[in-house]
Amino acid sequence: MKIVHAFDDVRSVSDGRVGLVPTMGFLHEGHLSLIEAAKSQNETVVVSVFVNPLQFNEDSDLDEYPRDLDRDALLCETAGADVVFAPDVSHMYPSKQRATVTVGCVAEGMEGAHRPGHFAGVATVVAKLLAGVRPDNAYFGRKDAQQLAVVTTMARDLAFPTRISGLTTVRESDGLALASRNVRLDPDLRGSALKLSEALFDAADAFEAGHRAAESLVHIAMDRLVVGRDLQVDYVEVARAEDAGPIATIDTESFLALAARVGGVRLIDNVHLDPDTGIADRGNRLSGPSILYGGS
Ligand code: AMP
Repeated sequence: MKIVHAFDDVRSVSDGRVGLVPTMGFLHEGHLSLIEAAKSQNETVVVSVFVNPLQFNEDSDLDEYPRDLDRDALLCETAGADVVFAPDVSHMYPSKQRATVTVGCVAEGMEGAHRPGHFAGVATVVAKLLAGVRPDNAYFGRKDAQQLAVVTTMARDLAFPTRISGLTTVRESDGLALASRNVRLDPDLRGSALKLSEALFDAADAFEAGHRAAESLVHIAMDRLVVGRDLQVDYVEVARAEDAGPIATIDTESFLALAARVGGVRLIDNVHLDPDTGIADRGNRLSGPSILYGGS
């Protein structure tokens, strides 16, 4: 496996179909599931590791974002990646970034409303990665369901030839969605954080029992979220999977998403709801502790 820092080097070591897994590093099993999917469908798997300053709206969040390239490279190699692309900020943004990508209403609700400029930062960096790496396939997690809608819309509307895939959420054994930020939760905060997935699972049960009114699912989830000093909810909402637009009655693929601050850590999670099958995708749980905590 090669570690490279420039787009030219990524392309010169790529061969056959290229699968790209964009990440911000500090990898966990959620990222590894994307690498495995890429491996099964491409000759070359490129994992980008770049903490993108453009998509952070709080300096403290950017500063405290966990980073460990040696650890990430080892995990990528074990998972079968061929290339780790770890550019410096000065390579991704050599001069002031004047051209940015916005994706209209897909980016306006939920995360977009609470994190102004966030999705322009995401869409811009993903556009640069697609243009610079030129992958055949790119893999994203449904854990960031609105981001997946933003990226899919951008790639389609701007005619990027890359096929975008969205994969199910990987969870810790207790149900908490894996996120690099989880390492910042102390045991007390972790107890509060667990309420998020429990709230979503309550609503998922109701969906599978036949509830289709978005408002009623939101209420069911809210009932579990006892807001206190440790837990401040930003939103609980249902949106269409395709464009993250609002929906009152779930008659097309949708997701119930929430975001909350747990202590100083902002977490997001969702369950995917498919009215055709009547199934709520709650993601996959690990059977033991995550590699985030030093295990293997
Ligand atoms: P990040 O490093 O958080 O920017 O995430 C990189 C990619 O991994 C994104 O496409 C995320 O949606 C995906 N991802 C993050 N957490 C998970 C998870 N728990 N399960 C599946 N995919 C995930």
